[in-house]
Amino acid sequence: MSSYNVAPLDKLVEQFEKMPGIGYKTAQRLAYYVLNMSKTDAEDFSDAIREAHEKIHYCKICCNLTDQELCPVCRNERRDKSVICVVETPRDAMAMESTNEYKGTYHILHGAISPLNDIGPDDLKIKELISRLNSDVQEVIMATNPTVEGDATAMYITRLLKPMGIRVTRLAYGIPVGGDLEYADQVTLARALEGRNEL
Ligand code: ZN
Repeated sequence: MSSYNVAPLDKLVEQFEKMPGIGYKTAQRLAYYVLNMSKTDAEDFSDAIREAHEKIHYCKICCNLTDQELCPVCRNERRDKSVICVVETPRDAMAMESTNEYKGTYHILHGAISPLNDIGPDDLKIKELISRLNSDVQEVIMATNPTVEGDATAMYITRLLKPMGIRVTRLAYGIPVGGDLEYADQVTLARALEGRNEL
């Protein structure tokens, strides 16, 4: 902190510093940027933060973010409600959407089981997932990240769902498109081999 302490500026820097991937230097730069905004722009900015917080909440069905009762996917009559793709974050659902291949619905857990970070099953939207499962649901696709936490979460949920007679699948792992086998790490390569498909 500088010895020129301007309290409101320090406060602004502190807020930016809390953001992911933002260090002190960047926080400082952003704070000065905000300070140099016109009054209207600054007000628009703070209004956008306030409005996002006030209006955005979880979809009643899939826990994705929405400003209505249901998110656009759950509202869409044409989406296949018999398939649920379970992801960790809303951004993961967006990534799946960008493929234009997936026609089912989602369920957003808002995290993954991580004992190290004190995140247990009850901290995730797992109960909400279970309560969605009715006879219409044929398949649950576990699309949590291929990390220790993501795998543990997928395992945990699979154990809950299997006795209910629901088909549970996991996204295949593989070599990135355009990638080179030579540069793939061992784990990726091993998993790609494991998940190979018939041609
Ligand atoms: Zn939804």
